[in-house]
Amino acid sequence: MIPIAQPFVGQQEADAARAVVLSGWLSQGPQVAAFEAQFAAEVGATYACAVSNCTTALHLALLAVGATHGGEVITVSHSFIAGPNAIRQTGAEPVFVDVEPDGYNVDSGRIAEAITEKTQAILCVHQMGMPCDLAAVLRVAAAHGLPVVEDAACAIGSEILVDGQWRKIGRPHGDVVCFSFHPRKVLTTGEGGMLTTDNQEFDQLFRLVRQHGMSVPDAVRHSSAEVVFESYPVCGYNYRMTDMQAAIGREQLKRLPEIVARRRALARRYCALLQSVPEVTPPCEPDWARSNWQSYPVRLARNLDQKCIMQHMLDEGVATRRGIMCAHLEPPYAEGNLHPLQASEAAQKHSILLPLYPQMTSDDQQRVISVLLGAIAAAAASKRSLHHVSAS
Ligand SMILES: *Cc1c(COP(=O)(O)O)cnc(C)c1O
Repeated sequence: MIPIAQPFVGQQEADAARAVVLSGWLSQGPQVAAFEAQFAAEVGATYACAVSNCTTALHLALLAVGATHGGEVITVSHSFIAGPNAIRQTGAEPVFVDVEPDGYNVDSGRIAEAITEKTQAILCVHQMGMPCDLAAVLRVAAAHGLPVVEDAACAIGSEILVDGQWRKIGRPHGDVVCFSFHPRKVLTTGEGGMLTTDNQEFDQLFRLVRQHGMSVPDAVRHSSAEVVFESYPVCGYNYRMTDMQAAIGREQLKRLPEIVARRRALARRYCALLQSVPEVTPPCEPDWARSNWQSYPVRLARNLDQKCIMQHMLDEGVATRRGIMCAHLEPPYAEGNLHPLQASEAAQKHSILLPLYPQMTSDDQQRVISVLLGAIAAAAASKRSLHHVSAS
């Protein structure tokens, strides 16, 4: 069986977590602080604040930039539902704009028409690790005085060309960037998230609110020689990462260059192998972006049934996933969409994700492609026999 994904973890991560378990300090503490410092340095951000997952990171980022009751946040429907859910958690409403035709990222030309007097922020997504057109998003945002939050859940290790220089996703070009360490992402801590920003006030807010609005962090109180009474100046949440997770994350960061290089090589090879398959369109990488290829989406010809192709491949031992979901097709977000979302719906309906993980071999990849070809041939054969039945 070839799985859709596989976390790239091993003995180093297990040893790191074990050492923390035996150290006597398991919750947010020195490992979290060290992970934050290394992460900030890795992406080129001034501040990094670790939290329990990317959904809580998005919630805090949106609160910091001022999303609240009665407001609107512009985002894409064609993304994981955590984004719209985090917007709702602030009290604001998501306003969906479409993705690029035949693409998976926001159509930046559609943002301006979605801006109203209620708009409080833009939440853009680097979908499946592919950077969105951040320069264009930032231009619209600046023209309307709006903050920008980047959902980089999948995009650790991806890069974008800014003023002629390659920059890591996470170096904030907007206001705040949010990452996920779920096992389906490129780096994992089991569950986990990170906020990066250059704004000191935002970073202080994240640190306060992630632990119940408590004025003094546990670790500081614990190590103080004097009795310290904490206070709770604001209403907060428990969004902390544990030190076991952070220790795993520090080991994962060491592997990042290898993981990204491997994923990029696999993606290049898929693209080459797919050149001879007219029914399938590989994703393209703009010349200003370098994706970490967290997922590898391919677009099926319109006459191919997505579910049949996926089932055939599963029967042959190759796991796939359907394209990224559309939040507006789910009940909580089905009402009140004002803007056309045809490209988003087409992307969900006609794309599938192929397996891609660092441990994948050339043989695995070859097998994925031959099973895909088999599925396409089977679909064509069943269509021919249907024609035959209706003609006779
Ligand atoms: C995975 C994902 C999230 C949610 O991340 P969690 O860490 O599971 O909360 C948010 N946005 C996007 C685009 C994602 O892919």
